[in-house]
Amino acid sequence: MIIAIDGPAGAGKTTISSQVAERLGFVRLDTGSLYRAVALCALQAGYTTQTPGLDGLVGSLALGFGKDGVTLDGVSLGDRIRTPEMSQAASAFSAVPAVRQGLLELQRRIGRATNSVLDGRDIGTVVFPDAELKIFLTARPEERARRRHKEHLDAGRPSNLEDVLKDIEARDLADSSRAIAPLKQAEDAILVDSSDLTIEQTISTIVEHARELMRGD
Ligand code: C5P
Repeated sequence: MIIAIDGPAGAGKTTISSQVAERLGFVRLDTGSLYRAVALCALQAGYTTQTPGLDGLVGSLALGFGKDGVTLDGVSLGDRIRTPEMSQAASAFSAVPAVRQGLLELQRRIGRATNSVLDGRDIGTVVFPDAELKIFLTARPEERARRRHKEHLDAGRPSNLEDVLKDIEARDLADSSRAIAPLKQAEDAILVDSSDLTIEQTISTIVEHARELMRGD
């Protein structure tokens, strides 16, 4: 079974997807981390989004998932992909068709290997249009910025709330207006707005939908 959880930056996809997967005994795949990994490797190799041969670079990367998240050649990339610079770079590189194409097969292969929760921007629309359960998880931009800001501070990273809100708004615009696989709610996705829900309420809403499906209700 595939559960697709899509939504904008800072909607809580990380926390919610991990918890939903844990409660159901599913594997969680954070597809955003694949785009972040590609951005990191591309920048290190001196590529820009315009450099020809990006498809070759993406195809040559041995990306996977380990217990600490995304891996390259079996080694975790850790927090290096979590900086604001890498968020912007991931958003920019993710608009390049060769990058999306390169990651499409990988996501499908890993996703269908077992019961999975995949979170991202285009899981229910493009990667797994036949996912058994699709959730579009969102929240008001100010609320998403507040949460992301707290996350940075809790992790000991410097953060400024206004800058975080600007970053979120810029990424929302870029992710939803790009030509290929833009961020949008799939027609058959269930909308969950977590602005006024607790984490627990959000998790149990989604888990309940999944359990209904598993019972065949
Ligand atoms: O979810 P996260 O913030 O880690 O994603 C980083 C960037 O990767 C997003 O802003 C988006 O541009 C891109 N992305 C995507 N499709 C996905 C997941 C992430 O385009 N399925």
